[in-house]
Amino acid sequence: MTSGPRKLDTRLTHAGRDRKLTGGGVNPQIQRASTVLVESAEQLYAPGAWTYGRHGTATHEALKQALCELEDASWCAVVSSGLLACTVPILALAEPGAHFLVTDNAYGPTRRFFDRMLKRMGCEAEYFDPYIGAEVAAKFRTGATKAIFLESPGSMTFEISDAPAIAAVARAAGVKTILDNTWAAGVYHRPLDLGIDISVQSTSKYIGGGADLLGGYILTRDEALGARMKDTIADLGLSVPADDAYTVLRGLRSLTTRLQRHGASGLDVARWLETRPEVLRVLHPALEDDPNHALWKRDFTGASGLFGVVLKPAPTKAVHAFLDALELFGLGFSYGGFESLAIHCDPQLKRTVSRPKLGGPLLRFSIGLEDSDDLKADLARGFAALASA
Ligand SMILES: *Cc1c(COP(=O)(O)O)cnc(C)c1O
Repeated sequence: MTSGPRKLDTRLTHAGRDRKLTGGGVNPQIQRASTVLVESAEQLYAPGAWTYGRHGTATHEALKQALCELEDASWCAVVSSGLLACTVPILALAEPGAHFLVTDNAYGPTRRFFDRMLKRMGCEAEYFDPYIGAEVAAKFRTGATKAIFLESPGSMTFEISDAPAIAAVARAAGVKTILDNTWAAGVYHRPLDLGIDISVQSTSKYIGGGADLLGGYILTRDEALGARMKDTIADLGLSVPADDAYTVLRGLRSLTTRLQRHGASGLDVARWLETRPEVLRVLHPALEDDPNHALWKRDFTGASGLFGVVLKPAPTKAVHAFLDALELFGLGFSYGGFESLAIHCDPQLKRTVSRPKLGGPLLRFSIGLEDSDDLKADLARGFAALASA
């Protein structure tokens, strides 16, 4: 498959469709396999022989080829959750005494991994303000600091980090960089182009698009790092069912088209929310008055449909009344699916060094593929319930 001058939409349509993988169909075969039969006794132990399904099948190969196209990576791993996509690169670099620098806005379960499992392995996680920029270099410990973990924008508070500045100082010091790229879905933000070593994403969100699967990817252009992560995956015995790999690839084919709609409706609803008297602030980097807007404009090419809203101070009971009155927005975690979702965030905002001063209850909306006027009408219903609670 040539990448050549073809545009992303074209490449995502055609990647991973070698006849060896598809058997002549449009899509790769769903190859369910534990045992892979070889043709002679000698091949059983031949170096590099493909003999076992845990290492993937034709279905996984097709998916990995297509995911490499997404961010122009040369190495890809697919894992069975987005959380694993975050933890595998860290485990690949962990050793007793290792020091990791972690953005304070990281996804809660990612933090928990650093605080619990990694600590038990004799490693230290030090959190930093997502707006730290190149000054993160002051926290480097010679020989000990292995990696910087970023999530940009944060999936609850939507801060954008200066990824190129952080990548530059890290690279100069031999510190690896990892960025959780789930919000931008691998389409609107290209960390590997900005000097980040490893881009990870939860494919459970926009790539899956249907709230019906769990998965993650890890992409890099650094072959040595890839080899290290491959060993980690093999050592842990991680594998992804072929059916799931197929579903991720199926979602990937329509990703860019769905994202345009998620992004446009998201911005439409966000702008409407800005006009509401109950709203203190909308946290959406594509809004001109958002403090992250300049970095978003510089380093992103679009917005997905996930953003936050800070309400004017209101009792928890009223916030619950707002959410409970919604008919189109499901109350549930995750995002990126075809259906809109809403949550209140305050119970899970875990910050240790840079707690944002929000000034009111924080809600998060994932805008789905419904008509955005219908979504606004649904939110208006919520505001009426908020007022009468
Ligand atoms: C959902 C999410 C994850 C975890 O992904 P799962 O597939 O649910 O394990 C990691 N990071 C971010 C930013 C997420 O939104």
